[in-house]
Amino acid sequence: MKPLIIANWKMNPSTLAEAKNLFNKFKNLDVVICPSFCYLDSKIRPAGARFILGAQNCHWEEKGAYTGEISPKMLESLGVKYVIIGHSERRIHFQETDEIINKKLKTALEFGLIPILCIGEKEGEDAKAIVEKQLNEDLKEIAEDDIKKIIIAYEPVWAIGTGNFCEAEKAKETLEFIRGRINNKILYGGSVNSKTSADYMKSGFDGLLVGGASLDAEEFAKIVNG
Ligand code: PEP
Repeated sequence: MKPLIIANWKMNPSTLAEAKNLFNKFKNLDVVICPSFCYLDSKIRPAGARFILGAQNCHWEEKGAYTGEISPKMLESLGVKYVIIGHSERRIHFQETDEIINKKLKTALEFGLIPILCIGEKEGEDAKAIVEKQLNEDLKEIAEDDIKKIIIAYEPVWAIGTGNFCEAEKAKETLEFIRGRINNKILYGGSVNSKTSADYMKSGFDGLLVGGASLDAEEFAKIVNG
């Protein structure tokens, strides 16, 4: 099956003009692009673009008094198909707990979005114990049929944005552990570049979640084209 490649632009690029430029360069790629909320409006996308839009986060309510937040329903109404939930940067900088992540997953599913659930251990932690705990708590009381729709992104926190990637062989051990627990699409993320990307695919991952390297159109195209 064709790998699923997802670009997480994080809080980049800094201007609408730069975002439009990057969108144009990605126009012919079969990927999912997760830009900042302000670049999600479909009018910004170049006509005929092949990529699909995803968001980097969402709130757990449909609407209400949550200043500064964006709901899954709003995303759905913009034509957004995917949403990253539980990214380690949200867990660390915005104190997102597994309980909050669980609520967000439920509402995102309710509005037909495909969640990309990020899990992974911090430096020195036991990867298997952490991903097991996160899966148990994040997926709590979600119906089996809904769980099947969720994409799992295994992202060792120490490898994100550090250039200190996790060797594919090592990542494979955690991948197999996760597979023993859940039969979903599983992506790898953490400092992926065009030199390392193929190794993760050979290890059995179903795709990649790419941060930093997805802001460099040439590098990203190399990752996508294998
Ligand atoms: C990410 O943001 O999910 C990520 C994997 O980032 P990077 O590729 O920069 O490590």
